[in-house]
Amino acid sequence: MHELAITQSLVELALDEAERAGAATIIGVRATVGHMCGIVPESMLIYFAELTRGTMAEGATLHLEVVRTVARCSACLKVFEPECVPWLCPDCAGRRLAILQGEELRLESIEVDFDNGGGNDGADGSETDPQG
Ligand SMILES: [Zn+2]
Repeated sequence: MHELAITQSLVELALDEAERAGAATIIGVRATVGHMCGIVPESMLIYFAELTRGTMAEGATLHLEVVRTVARCSACLKVFEPECVPWLCPDCAGRRLAILQGEELRLESIEVDFDNGGGNDGADGSETDPQG
């Protein structure tokens, strides 16, 4: 279930970015996801295909990279790798954590096509950076 929620956010982010860029279609989506709570990348690929059906991202390729998640407790400053939500500090059970690496979800870039007519002029899309 967790993968569905994450994938949904990812699709919304990607569609938002593509719309802002004035793109016609999304060809590929590149994202990193924190390795936590047993995220199964294969499930996200399936959800992605379902959630993008009927949108400008239909048929887009999802490039997913799973990265290690590292968090630091704001109370006792312990650095650890959280496993499951809700995240708690293993030392003091604090809930205020700073994610140092491997956020739950990060949209790295999207590959879009501005040509809606399927022309063949060699322009095969471009990358946009959502972190601008
Ligand atoms: Zn702590």
